[in-house]
Amino acid sequence: MHFQVITLFPEMIDSAMNTSIIGRAVKNGVISVETVNLKNFSCNSYGSVDDYTYGGGAGMLMQCEPVYNAYLSTVERLENPARKPRVIFTTPQGRVLDEKIAAELAENEDLIFLCGHYEGIDERVLEEIVTDNLSIGDYVLTGGELPSLVMMDAISRLVPGVLNNKESAETESFNNGLLEYPQYTRPKEWHGKEVPDILLSGDHRKIELYRTREAIKRTAERRPDLYEAWLKNRGIW
Ligand code: SAM
Repeated sequence: MHFQVITLFPEMIDSAMNTSIIGRAVKNGVISVETVNLKNFSCNSYGSVDDYTYGGGAGMLMQCEPVYNAYLSTVERLENPARKPRVIFTTPQGRVLDEKIAAELAENEDLIFLCGHYEGIDERVLEEIVTDNLSIGDYVLTGGELPSLVMMDAISRLVPGVLNNKESAETESFNNGLLEYPQYTRPKEWHGKEVPDILLSGDHRKIELYRTREAIKRTAERRPDLYEAWLKNRGIW
């Protein structure tokens, strides 16, 4: 999996993607991340890539030409530039990322992320290059760097070889439509709270049943929307 990120702030991407589990995957060559600095594609002597919006309004807008040239340079670097890559524009106006979308994106060899800033990006260049508009939730951030990091993290975890067995994605929340069950580690008793006996029993079948029950209970309490979808999926609703 090869990520390329078109951004005004490559340092934000580099530092996060070289840390912890994702950093280990980069080091091991399971995934790779390249940043493309939009400032290098400015069309004026000031090095700026934004201008006032036609029709007025607050804030500046990123211009077509620098974004387009950065995109062309990104595509040129692909192993197979003839194959049109998925270009994800991080935007609050997109579909909201979930585990299903992350899994589908994890099937791609190359993904290009385009990070907006200020008021966003001129619509005309978005129409030409973007294949997917993707959001991380119904709120507005100052730039697309954090959303693209969130997206790349969620996608990377699903790429084979990124997680080791201990960190397997299989039992995590959303994997089977439910939230994960509560978990405990040592000590056995903390602040007067005991780890449930069943988890110490060594009876794997009972433990599995207990965990499934807890996962269902937790989902119903915390995410009734997911619980309803899970029931419908099983023909119970
Ligand atoms: N004017 C835009 C609007 O109202 O839809 C918001 C622009 S926002 C201040 C600047 C940039 O941050 C966006 O172009 C986008 O790349 C990124 N961004 C902000 N919120 C986001 C979200 N919830 N999901 C994904 N990207 C987001």
